[in-house]
Amino acid sequence: MKFCRYGSRGSEKPGLIDADGRIRDLSGVIDDVTVASIAGLSIDPETLPLVEGAPRYGVPTKGIGKIVAIGLNYEDHAIESNLPIPTEPVMFIKAVSSITGPNDEVMLPKDATHGDWEVELGFIIGKTARYVEEADALSHVAGYVLANDVSERFNQKERGTQWSKGKGHDTFCPVGPWLVTPDEVGDPQDLDMFLDVNGQRMQTGNTKTMIFNVAELIAYVSRFITLYPGDLVITGTPPGVGEGKKPNAIYLKAGDVMKLGIAGLGEQQQSVVEWRHLGDEVLG
Ligand code: ZN
Repeated sequence: MKFCRYGSRGSEKPGLIDADGRIRDLSGVIDDVTVASIAGLSIDPETLPLVEGAPRYGVPTKGIGKIVAIGLNYEDHAIESNLPIPTEPVMFIKAVSSITGPNDEVMLPKDATHGDWEVELGFIIGKTARYVEEADALSHVAGYVLANDVSERFNQKERGTQWSKGKGHDTFCPVGPWLVTPDEVGDPQDLDMFLDVNGQRMQTGNTKTMIFNVAELIAYVSRFITLYPGDLVITGTPPGVGEGKKPNAIYLKAGDVMKLGIAGLGEQQQSVVEWRHLGDEVLG
């Protein structure tokens, strides 16, 4: 099944996607889409009311407690980044405050000149994972999501060793439109992925070229950080990011439009905007 949350920010309602890609209203069945509320839920979307129009998609699940991100997990991407191919997964924490809806604006940080894109397969943890064995790892996945691991390369790489500085800016983690259950995704290691900027194809990949697959990543991460239901793990990006472009790197500027997708997980589109002070506005 494909779950979603739709409506304006802060008042999203739960939805289910039907066979024609339309949103069905799930609010008569559950209050919100969380790992707990959808566990074991089996419902025919056609029995639910159709949602009229084209509402905003929110982040497809509520209750993301943390985001664990994997870097350099595609061999070609490590090469284009001029970094050695990892012998262990590169892991960093991406701030939860960077989460935003799949089609919301992406706002560059103040004075940013090195904004960049990363289409990624993400997954939401369905049950607590501590020292999980690889063979049992996939049973800990509640569902898969599309994510854009938006990055500011100068803050990521030129301000010390902590990637988190360039990864956690507000709006830097669009997630969605859907949370797709594992039975519907099938093999997570054979999904085509793409990302366009202003209509030009920048990234083309398939999850089969990951260095460490989803099961290996769950086993690995769970040795260092306990993963709780609702947590999000994003699994790295294929080649074609802006900093790797030849002969010159290409970076995001206000007015650019990113469009990205993964087979079966839907598509996102974000307009890039200049920094502005958000005050105490809460995103997500
Ligand atoms: Zn990434």
